[in-house]
Amino acid sequence: MSKGFLSGRHAVVTGAGSGIGRAIAIAFAAEGAAVSLFGRRVETLEATRGALAGDALAVAVDVTDEAAVRAGFAAARKRFGPVAILVNNAGMAESAPLHRTSLETWQKTLDVNLTGSFLCMREALEDLRAGDYGRIINIASTAGRKGFAYVGAYCASKHGLIGLTRSLAAELAGTATTVNAICPGYVETDMTRRSLGNIVATTGRTAEEALDSLVAGNPQGRLVQPEEIAAAALWLAGMRAGGVTGQALMIDGGEVT
Ligand code: NAD
Repeated sequence: MSKGFLSGRHAVVTGAGSGIGRAIAIAFAAEGAAVSLFGRRVETLEATRGALAGDALAVAVDVTDEAAVRAGFAAARKRFGPVAILVNNAGMAESAPLHRTSLETWQKTLDVNLTGSFLCMREALEDLRAGDYGRIINIASTAGRKGFAYVGAYCASKHGLIGLTRSLAAELAGTATTVNAICPGYVETDMTRRSLGNIVATTGRTAEEALDSLVAGNPQGRLVQPEEIAAAALWLAGMRAGGVTGQALMIDGGEVT
C-alpha cells in the first residue's frame, strides 16, 4: 500500500476504463488513494484495475442512470468508506452541423456530459458536505470556454458543466470541498482517434492531414497527453490547492486564454 499524499482517501473516477479517466485513476492510486472505477463495461474497468498500484473497485455504472449512480456510490462506500474525491470524467462527443443534429444526439450528449456529472455530484455531496477534505474535479473541455463548429451539443454540455462547477463552488465555499473543472484541448485518446476517423470519412483528408488540422488549434502544435490531465487533477487534489475553487483550468497549450 502506497504512502502517497492521497493515502486513506477514497476517489471515485467515472469513465475510468479508458483515456483520461484511466490515467487519473492510475495517478491517484499511485499516490495511495483507494479508487472506485465507474463505467459502463466491467471488463474495461477491470483492465484499469489491473494497471493500478493500490486498492480499487470496478463498478458498472451508466452515469445517466439515477438508480445506477445511487447503487454505484453505495457499493463504493461499502468497500472504501466515504467519498473524498469525485472526478466526473465520463463523456461523449459526436459531431454534426447543428441543422443535422438529432434530438437524440443532443439529449444523449447533455445526459452523459452534464446530467451524469450532476447525478454523481449530488450523490457524492452526502459525504463531501460533512467531511474535512473534499475535491470535485470535472473534466470539461476547451469546448466549455469557446465555441467550436459542428459540435454544438458537446459545446453546450461542456459550457453547462463549467457553469455547474462555478455554482457548486460558490455553494460549498464554506466547506472543505473545492470544485473545479479541467479543460483539455485535444488529448491523445480514443475520443480524439474517433474524431480523426470522422474527419477522414467526411472530408476525404488523409489521417495525417486530419491530425494536422486538429493540432493546428493548439499553439504548441501537439496533442495533449492523458498523463498531463492526470497531473493537473493530482495538483487539484493536493492540500496546497485548497484555496483553488470555481476555476476552469485550461490544459491546451495556450489555445484559450
Ligand atoms: P474516452 O472515450 O476514452 O473516455 C470517455 C469514457 O467515458 C469512456 O471510458 C466511456 O466508456 C465513458 N462513458 C461514456 N458514456 C458513459 C456513461 N453514460 N456512463 C459511464 N461512462 C461513460 O475519451 P477521453 O478523451 O478519455 O474522454 C474523457 C473526458 O475528457 C470526456 O469527458 C471528454 O469530453 C473530455 N475531453 C476529451 C478531450 C479529447 O481530446 N480527448 C478533450 C477535452 C475534453
